[in-house]
Amino acid sequence: MSVLITGGTGYIGSITCVKLLAAGENIVVVDNLCNSEYSVVDRIKTISGKEFPFYKVDVRDKAELKRIFIKHDIEACIHFAGLKAVSESIGVPLEYYDNNIGGTIKLLEVMKEAYVKKFVFSSSATVYGSNKPPFSEDMPIGMETTNPYGTTKLFIEKILRDLSISDPEWGIALLRYFNPLGADESGLLGDDPNGIPTNLMPYIQRVAVNKLPQLSIFGNDYPTKDGTCIRDYIHVSDLARGHLNAIERIRRTSGIDVWNLGTGIGYSVLDIVNTFIEVNNVDIPYVFAPRRDGDVAVSYCNSSKAERDLHFKTEKTPDDMCRDSFRFIKNLKSGDI
Ligand code: NAD
Ligand code: UDP
Repeated sequence: MSVLITGGTGYIGSITCVKLLAAGENIVVVDNLCNSEYSVVDRIKTISGKEFPFYKVDVRDKAELKRIFIKHDIEACIHFAGLKAVSESIGVPLEYYDNNIGGTIKLLEVMKEAYVKKFVFSSSATVYGSNKPPFSEDMPIGMETTNPYGTTKLFIEKILRDLSISDPEWGIALLRYFNPLGADESGLLGDDPNGIPTNLMPYIQRVAVNKLPQLSIFGNDYPTKDGTCIRDYIHVSDLARGHLNAIERIRRTSGIDVWNLGTGIGYSVLDIVNTFIEVNNVDIPYVFAPRRDGDVAVSYCNSSKAERDLHFKTEKTPDDMCRDSFRFIKNLKSGDI
């Protein structure tokens, strides 16, 4: 039996593959490589010392997906595949709706036909909109989202709830990620998006290796301790580990449930920049720039439900996140990976 990982060569997916293989799971990986590279497959194999099948397939391609489900004995799916750039989504909403929502529906249809009904979905803290932090899973959502990307996450959560009502045999975990940072401890896998990064750490990383001149910090007039936004940054290795707990849980249960994956602690943008500078002994020139549209001032979670139900507790600190991110980008720049 294997777990199908869509988007498995992406940032979070690749590191989750490493954790699953280390835990003795069999995996089948699907990715269309629109935001990742084939070399990641080899790096996962190098780190884990294990083999697995990889398919360069778009999850909207039902015929190809069906072939994969016929060829492999798939028992569950972790669905990472999707487009994730908030600002880009505002310019090309139809692409986001087609890829994220359309892709998820096609995948679910193929799963249903194959009688595979265990599903873990990569949702996001963005669905909490203007709720007051700490965000907990029982808060009402769906009042508003600030961009099409966030709307895709909200709609997919809703689609999965409807699916679960229609057929209670489905076992579905909605995982609401907070802000993943860091890289695999090997230094071989991390976050290096195509094009100019829009997320904080990939941008800091490129400034650190002189590929970009300076960081713009969006807003220093928020009602926070230093005026910059607060986020719940979680080490990507901790986040990846959370998927093992979620798979274990839905193997034993049916129905749908939702869990926050975060630390429950908020750090400011300046905290992260200063930590990166200190632990890596490197300069990160920055300027304060106007607020970015759609940013909420403060986002952090109540992490107690994941701790209670999934026995999930984060272990790593912002020091680890900054150290591991720097190690990864140095390896990438030096051409070692
Ligand atoms: P990523 O872009 O690194 O990985 C996504 C992968 O999906 C990429 O390798 C891309 O090539 C692939 N992909 C995209 N569309 C596809 C399609 N139609 N068919 C097949 N493959 C496709 O992103 P990530 O940071 O690893 O995020 C993984 C998931 O987690 C996404 O769904 C994202 O929305 C969600 N998420 C990410 C964050 C974050 O801050 N990184 C936060 C919350 C939620
Ligand atoms: N941020 C920033 N400069 C950048 C990128 C991000 O100041 O170049 C800030 C952003 O305004 C937010 C925080 O860093 O307050 C985290 O942003 P990111 O895009 O990484 O994640 P988000 O919280 O938007 O999902």
